[in-house]
Amino acid sequence: MNIDSPIFHKILTDWYKQNLRDLPWRKNKEPYLVWISEIILQQTRVDQGTNYFLRFIEKFPTVETLAQAQEDEVLKLWQGLGYYSRARNIHFAAKQIQNDFKGQFPSTAIEIEKLKGVGKYTAAAIGSISFNLPMAAVDGNVYRVLSRVFGISTPIDSTLGKHEFAELAQQLIDAKNPGTFNEALMEFGALQCVPKNPNCVECPFNDQCVAHQQNTIKSLPVKSIKTKVRNRYFYYLYIKHKKSFYITQRKENDIWKNLYQLPLIETTEEILPEKIIIHQEFQQLFNTVDLAIDAITNPVTHLLSHQKLNVRFIEISVNNDLKHENWIKICEEDLVQYGVPKVIENFLVKKTEN
Ligand code: SF4
Repeated sequence: MNIDSPIFHKILTDWYKQNLRDLPWRKNKEPYLVWISEIILQQTRVDQGTNYFLRFIEKFPTVETLAQAQEDEVLKLWQGLGYYSRARNIHFAAKQIQNDFKGQFPSTAIEIEKLKGVGKYTAAAIGSISFNLPMAAVDGNVYRVLSRVFGISTPIDSTLGKHEFAELAQQLIDAKNPGTFNEALMEFGALQCVPKNPNCVECPFNDQCVAHQQNTIKSLPVKSIKTKVRNRYFYYLYIKHKKSFYITQRKENDIWKNLYQLPLIETTEEILPEKIIIHQEFQQLFNTVDLAIDAITNPVTHLLSHQKLNVRFIEISVNNDLKHENWIKICEEDLVQYGVPKVIENFLVKKTEN
């Protein structure tokens, strides 16, 4: 190794003391708070995540209150964060803690990993920060820092790479203060050794950092797999009847499971706006209905990790109330009770402003 563990700890913790951010989940080391913050931060930046975290723990201050909540309430609070399966898992795991661990947050690595949705990384973060367990937490920030400081070009998404980085982090961890070590390393990646144009001149590792010495910062860390993106075409039906419109709950094992949305026609290829109304599904829904098409929006692109959603909204007025077994008729004021995906929220907010 180009740098041994004690020197690595010293440089890292000196930097951390001077640079750590004052974040609400760092106020105490309660495992419930560490857990919720870690899950939220896996999908959003700290500034946005902080608001979600504060709202979440205000509504559900304890595991018990979360376990007793309705899933719809949890999803509503999660609205806009994406990755709704994580919200469902958190809710499920809170019930596990109540039922399987008598309401006490599990305190060993094996038990923490039994919680639904808690993988190695989250278990290590909770275990080290809340229970002082020497478990190295390797997230994207940590991969970046270690690959650069130690000049490791093994792809981080390969089995070999995952093993190599996990082993290195475990060798480096400060067994006396594992939680501080993990937090410091992640914070260092988030603030100092950032993905693009890190400030190496003022970095405390610049004497030892292999990537800096060899000018390989741009190529590290290495990823081998290029993610394939699937295109989907969503045509949402905003069907107005007097002051109400219709929504439906997503039930399939797919994105946004259990969230609410407008009635949807999905296709695998784009359909021209003027052809939507002659699409078979549209005809089946509205064959005998007296309706007027008020507008068809331009496509909005909504990117998820492996999917590109191309979304249009078709605005329709009908003269009679429509009966459909899966549709719920609501008015604008009722919408606060339903968790909806961000792309739909944006559309409906614009509609209510008009
Ligand atoms: S010298 Fe540059 S690349 Fe190396 S750890 Fe510091 S910021 Fe990262």
